[in-house]
This record gives sequence, C-alpha cells and structure tokens, in this order.
Amino acid sequence: MTQQEPAGISPAQVRAELAEWVGQYWDPAMALHDWRVLLLESGWAVPSWPLRWHGRGLPAWADELVGSELLRLGAVGIPVGSGTWLAAPTILAHGGDDLRERLLRPILTGEQTWCQLFSEPGAGSDLAGLSTSAVLDGDTWVINGQKVWNTSAHHADLGMLLARTDRDVPKHQGITYFVLPMKQHGVEVRQLRQMNFHASFNEVFLTEARIPKDNVIGAVGQGWTAALTTLAYERRFSALHRPSYSPASGRALDEARAEADDHFATYSWYPQRAGRPDLIIEHARAAGVADDPVIRQAIARLLTLHRVSVWTAERARAARALGARPGAEGSIGKLAASTIARESARVHAMIAGAKGMLTGPDSALGGVIAEVLMSVPGQSIAGGTDEIQKNILAEKVLGLPGEVRVDKDIPYSQIKHRG
Ligand SMILES: Cc1cc2nc3c(=O)[nH]c(=O)nc-3n(C[C@H](O)[C@H](O)[C@H](O)COP(=O)(O)OP(=O)(O)OC[C@H]3O[C@@H](n4cnc5c(N)ncnc54)[C@H](O)[C@@H]3O)c2cc1C
Repeated sequence: MTQQEPAGISPAQVRAELAEWVGQYWDPAMALHDWRVLLLESGWAVPSWPLRWHGRGLPAWADELVGSELLRLGAVGIPVGSGTWLAAPTILAHGGDDLRERLLRPILTGEQTWCQLFSEPGAGSDLAGLSTSAVLDGDTWVINGQKVWNTSAHHADLGMLLARTDRDVPKHQGITYFVLPMKQHGVEVRQLRQMNFHASFNEVFLTEARIPKDNVIGAVGQGWTAALTTLAYERRFSALHRPSYSPASGRALDEARAEADDHFATYSWYPQRAGRPDLIIEHARAAGVADDPVIRQAIARLLTLHRVSVWTAERARAARALGARPGAEGSIGKLAASTIARESARVHAMIAGAKGMLTGPDSALGGVIAEVLMSVPGQSIAGGTDEIQKNILAEKVLGLPGEVRVDKDIPYSQIKHRG
C-alpha cells in the first residue's frame, strides 16, 4: 500500500481543516448513508488510507484523531464492527483492486456487515489446522465444513472465511481467504447460548455453499498471510468502544444511534467480560467493606495493574501514531486485559461473597457481579488464548526458542489425526 503523506502536517492543521469541512457539509437531518458517502468522497472516512481508497494519505494518527473530532463536532464517523475493524484493513492490504473497488465502499457506508469465520471445532489456537474445504467448480468455489464461535454471524452479510484449497502442501500453505456471501442456501447459522445467558456466537454449517471465483483476498493458497493481518487488527481492537454520539436530534444521528444499538446488543456483556474494575470501589462501599485492610490491598493491587495497562495502551497508541503496524504490544495488551479481568472478578467475589452468585435486582450490583463471574473466562480465549499470547511474546519479543511444531512442514493430508 502506498501512502502519500503530506509532509509535516500537524494535528492542529488536520483539526482545523476537518472543522471547516464539517461546518460546510454536516447536516444532522440528512440520511446517514448520504453523510457517509460524503465522508468517503472527501477522504475523511479513513484519512490515513491512500487517496484512491477513500483516504487522504495522512499519517496513521489521523484516523483516531478524525474519528474523535467528528464526534466532538456533533457529527458521525464510519460504522463500528468487524467489517470496519478487520475486513477493511485486510482487504486494503491484501485484496486486489477489484475487491477493494467492490467491498471497501459498502463497509465504510455501513451497507454491508461482516463476521469472522476462522475458528472450527478442531481448529482454534491451531487455526492453520482447519479442515473446511473449498473446491473450484467452473466459476464458483464450493465450500463444505463447519465454523464455530462466530460472533454476529446471525446478522452478517459477508464472512471472512478461511478454507483449505490444497491438502498436499504443509498446513499453512494450502489455505485461501474468501469473502463468503452469508445469505445463501448452503450457509446455516445456529446461535449458541452461553453460560451468562447471552447468545452472541454461532455455529456456521457450510454445505455446498457457493463463492464467486474472484472473491479471494490475496492469492489462492496464500490466505495465511492475509489471516495474520486480520488477527493483528483483532488484537488491536479487542476493546470495543461505543461512539458517544451527540444527543441532538436529526435523521443521521438517529440512524447512527440505532446502528450502534443494534451492533452493541451482541456485545452488551463485554464490559462484564473485562471484569468491571471501574465498579470495584463502588462495590466495596456498597457492601460496607471499604475499610477492610485485606480488601483494600486487593483493590489497590487491581487498580495498579489496570493503571499500568492503560499506560501500555497509550504507548501502543503513540507507536501507531508514528506509523508502526500493530505488533507485539497487541499481545501484551490482550494478556494484561485477561489478567485484570480475572483479578477484578476475584476481588468482586471477595467483596460480594456468596451473594455474588445471585442474579436479579436484589443481588450484588443488580446482577452485574454474577455476570462478571460468568463472563470473565471468555476474555482469556477470544482473539487468541492467553497461552498463545504468551507463546507469541516469548518468540517474537523475548527471542526464546520457538515452540516445537512437529506438523508444520509435512503435507496437511499426512498429519496423523486428520486421517
Ligand atoms: C468471546 C469470544 C469471541 C470469539 N469470536 C470469534 C469470531 O468472531 N470468529 C471466530 O472465528 N472465532 C471466534 N472465537 C473463537 C476463538 O478465536 C477461539 O476460541 C480461540 O482461538 C481458542 O480456540 P479453541 O476454543 O479451539 O481452544 P483450543 O485451541 O482447543 O485451546 C484449548 C486450550 O489449550 C491451550 N493451547 C492450545 N494450543 C496451545 C499451545 N500451542 N501452547 C499452549 N497452550 C495451548 C489453549 O490456550 C487453551 O487453554 C471467539 C471466542 C470467544 C471466547
């Protein structure tokens, strides 16, 4: 990807230029879609992207700055969701011009939503061991297999699908990255109910599902490289933030709020998944144990961990602002988030005692604590488990010897347990 960075542009200049443009074009009464088309055409949608692909060739820091400035000015930015956060940067980095032409625009206007179809019952951490197959039949790929834990697959238009196109090469080499149209006969999506009673995930059964021949991101058999890009962005966006839209009225704002409500309904338990360290002091006070020395020490330890991880995230943000691609700091941040979530759940449990197991209005913090206790385990699994993050840090950051991977270099078809 080539970037034309205007030399020496400062954040203050970007802010001023954006404010002038918003002053001229933003009208809350317009349709959200029409506003997003204006954002695209002006290059303010993703200002760090190249001019040809809806950007302005600005430095990497401009995306975050413009996103928050649009909100501050009372306007709306690009949609939230895995299309914007995962599919779009992957397509920009690895897709051909035809795919960029067809797919980036509807992602950035919010016309098409996406889900990630990577994990399988037998391939999670060992994602490259996946067995869903894709066979070319004339102008169409025919897909058979099963995916699982696919967040939001029940309302997505398109899926980022990894499937095996060659069984006679080592497992990482025979994978292709497809764009799967979800609304078709061969795709059956079944929602899964979690132990915290929410249903954010799905199993996706693919039976003779069809994909047009050209819906391939990167080259056939080279899907692993593009998948690594998606995974790197996934670690970076593991914290989901709902945009704080202006409370003013207007069609564009109403539609943006409805879009966010719809999207974040799936993620309503994610704050609880992160352990709710923000509620810990309130919880201790409400339970009358804020002066208990053991509880106070546990709270101090938790909030210290939390504060340090905020600094790490700020360091990562500063590195990105200088144009660095997402890297090891994503794994550090993700691991820290898991540690904090578990520690926070432990301290909430110390405070609540057995009452922490109760749900409903009479229970600790109106049932929030019970939801924390049942949601926190997911934090250590989603987007790569804690153990896998540790492997990445050991190898990529600390330079320790690589994990023994006995099936890495032999053809996939000869890996024993695959038969
Ligand atoms: C909240 C949430 C959202 C998710 N969203 C999606 C989604 O949208 N799309 C999608 O495709 N998937 C999604 N997933 C699936 C997720 O990516 C997988 O669950 C994850 O990669 C782990 O795979 P697994 O469940 O098969 O566990 P396994 O890989 O079977 O792991 C089992 C245990 O073995 C350990 N382990 C495995 N390999 C190693 C190793 N080499 N070294 C040390 N320990 C190891 C693991 O750490 C874990 O403790 C989601 C999961 C969660 C919890």
